[in-house]
Amino acid sequence: MEEEIGFLGMGIMGKAMAVNLLRHGFKVTVWNRTLSKCDELVDHGASVGKTPAEVVKKCKYTIAILADPTVALSVVFDKNGVLEQISSGKGYIDMSTVDFHTSSRISEAIISKGGYFLEAPVSGSKKPAEDGQLVMLAAGEKALYDKILPAFDVMGKKSFFLGQIGNGAKTKLVVNMIMGSVLNAFSEGLTLADKSGLDPQTLLDVLDLGGTASPLFRMKGPAMIQKSYPPQFPLKHQQKDMRLALALGDENAVSMPVAAAANEAFKKARSMGLGDLDFAAVHEAVKFPGSSS
Ligand code: NAP
Repeated sequence: MEEEIGFLGMGIMGKAMAVNLLRHGFKVTVWNRTLSKCDELVDHGASVGKTPAEVVKKCKYTIAILADPTVALSVVFDKNGVLEQISSGKGYIDMSTVDFHTSSRISEAIISKGGYFLEAPVSGSKKPAEDGQLVMLAAGEKALYDKILPAFDVMGKKSFFLGQIGNGAKTKLVVNMIMGSVLNAFSEGLTLADKSGLDPQTLLDVLDLGGTASPLFRMKGPAMIQKSYPPQFPLKHQQKDMRLALALGDENAVSMPVAAAANEAFKKARSMGLGDLDFAAVHEAVKFPGSSS
């Protein structure tokens, strides 16, 4: 791909994804609210833009992966934001996990300025991002999807084009709603094993040999037993995804008691100050549900 790619958001995911682009020979200009986080990318050959608008001005295609809907909107609509420099022929690809309404607002604004828009949230976490093994859930402008596919192929192992705006955002929320619910059941199981006098490690070994075997349990089980939660996927973002998935359930009159209960556990974990840790830290809230600090 000849054109330089802009990249907004050097968090856990954005940094790993931008590094992969650079490693594969793409020219990349990065921006992050906390500018110092761009230094490592400069070491890998990236240029730095001072504002989102500056990046979009320079690059034909700009990718973003940001914390949540509020941030995704502010980076587009605020002063020095994306919208100031979007013009005919430019493409904006938002890979943040947001709700359909947020994505639609951004899409309409970009299109009204003559630009192209793609939502493309990702399935996969820090390690898959580092290894170029993400799964892209894209929707929106197919022509932009086709143009940006070489970049997706470097950052991920599989890309889906899901049709109209919202289909990517909704798919991602359903996936994370299931993941958050399952992790809570897993955490309850580990706690039950422990409190019943069983060895939690033996439980992990048994689970791994049956229909219950899962990369999620394999990754998060040892962390939960050891109470070691360096953030791969920050818990505050998982709770945001439960919240957005439950709102989607509200809109469609889908009863989701299991997800609602899981959301409460993630909220409890946040109230215990665990929001910046990995989402496996919900285990601490499940183990000690009465705890509030
Ligand atoms: P992260 O490490 O918390 O990074 C969040 C990014 O958003 C950072 O670049 C941060 O900038 C920026 N940001 C936060 N508040 C901002 C504000 N007010 N204005 C401008 N920028 C702001 O999160 P992450 O794990 O990379 O996740 C990013 C997105 O991908 C989220 O939507 C998340 O749900 C989704 N996601 C994450 C994973 C995962 O496993 N980590 C997997 C799939 C999808 P600063 O550095 O300045 O704070």
